[in-house]
Amino acid sequence: MSAILPQPNEDALKTVKDSGPANILILGGGFGGIAAANTLRRLLPAVHTIAVIDQAPRFYVGAGKTWLMLGERTGAEISAERTVLLEPGVEFLQSEILQLDLPARCVVTAAGQLRWDFLVIALGTVMRQEAVPGLACAHTFYTVEGAERLRPVLADFAQGEIVLLIPKTPYKCPAAPYEAALLLQHFFAERSRSRTVQLSVYTVEGAPMATGGPAMGAFVREALARQSIGFFPQKTVVRVDGQTRRVEFTDGTAAAYDLLMCVPPHEAPAVVRSAGLLGPAGWIPVDPLTMEIKSPTSAGRVFAIGDVTAVPLPGRFKPDAGLSLPKAGVMAETQGEVVAQRIAALVNGTAPVATFDGRGYCFLETGGDTAVKAEGSFFALPHPVMTKQTPSSGQLADKLAWVARHLAPRR
Ligand SMILES: Cc1cc2nc3c(=O)[nH]c(=O)nc-3n(C[C@H](O)[C@H](O)[C@H](O)COP(=O)(O)OP(=O)(O)OC[C@H]3O[C@@H](n4cnc5c(N)ncnc54)[C@H](O)[C@@H]3O)c2cc1C
Repeated sequence: MSAILPQPNEDALKTVKDSGPANILILGGGFGGIAAANTLRRLLPAVHTIAVIDQAPRFYVGAGKTWLMLGERTGAEISAERTVLLEPGVEFLQSEILQLDLPARCVVTAAGQLRWDFLVIALGTVMRQEAVPGLACAHTFYTVEGAERLRPVLADFAQGEIVLLIPKTPYKCPAAPYEAALLLQHFFAERSRSRTVQLSVYTVEGAPMATGGPAMGAFVREALARQSIGFFPQKTVVRVDGQTRRVEFTDGTAAAYDLLMCVPPHEAPAVVRSAGLLGPAGWIPVDPLTMEIKSPTSAGRVFAIGDVTAVPLPGRFKPDAGLSLPKAGVMAETQGEVVAQRIAALVNGTAPVATFDGRGYCFLETGGDTAVKAEGSFFALPHPVMTKQTPSSGQLADKLAWVARHLAPRR
């Protein structure tokens, strides 16, 4: 790993220390943006300005969207106002970000222009079902609106085929569709519908949670099989025909459905694209340890964190298949904390030492009031390492506590 260890940016160090109060702008108030802002506020005196911009006033915990679709929680119960989640002394501007101008150190929003000394881009992803022909007709639990629309549909679904389609990678929380399938099966079993409802997952992936390694994939496959959930890997979608209710794949096969659910294709937000910040993979390339954007105009002052980035992993399971860090809230959060520590050091005129270690975890609910916590070390060599315990109600309690912690008021 030492080959990619960062060097302190002496230029940025000198200029910030000498130039008075710093203006730090954080674009996006999700997992990453909130963590960066709150960590910075704790590390820097009030003379330095820390502001978060987001178009939406409420923060939703992604992990609660399956509960929303199943009618177990309301939208209000899985969300909180961003102003309440930000530490006192962090400014919040609710506005759409329209343009990023790195050379001019300026961000254009619907509410006007803002200048910055340090910029953190934490704008997440946008989801575009239109990216696959015909997929617009599918339901999804990946958005709040989609999960709310699904609730009455699932409540009334008494018999037939449900296809859960994963047409593209990468997508956020690689555990989420498999968790959703297990929870759905449990939902139908509780309502005595498991004999009349058949659930199948069709995915472009070779295995579930592939970055976690073959053992993790096998664990999920076995959990699906135990619940009689169909699993069809390496299925690339050609189109969805909403009239005949069929998904057509490149291998000539098709899946018939009565209810189609999907993980929508993910993309970087348009404002990042038009700023020319995207790499060939369609995400912002960053230094994996410092989350700094390497561009001639960023001068060590621009960082990107979370889902909007692509972080290539040093290890791999197969020589010809490169891997990227999974997109997840825990990753965005840790990266936000690292970036905050680096910016605070630069503002204070010291060498930044904090680095992202590629570690993270996720909770996979397995149905029947149990969950399993999987812990990953994604920078490990020769390949990422993921370990897990046996599913238990205790790990579900840990997940509930994790969600509650992210909705706890800071002011
Ligand atoms: C069903 C589901 C389950 C999940 N479960 C888990 C889990 O158990 N654990 C976990 O760690 N992760 C989970 N995730 C993933 C997690 O939600 C994301 O990885 C996380 O939100 C990424 O954080 P982020 O800060 O990068 O982006 P986000 O949290 O998406 O924040 C980006 C913000 O930028 C704002 N924004 C974007 N464009 C603009 C613009 N032009 N102007 C103004 N504002 C803008 C958006 O409004 C948004 O608030 C789950 C996701 C889903 C969908």
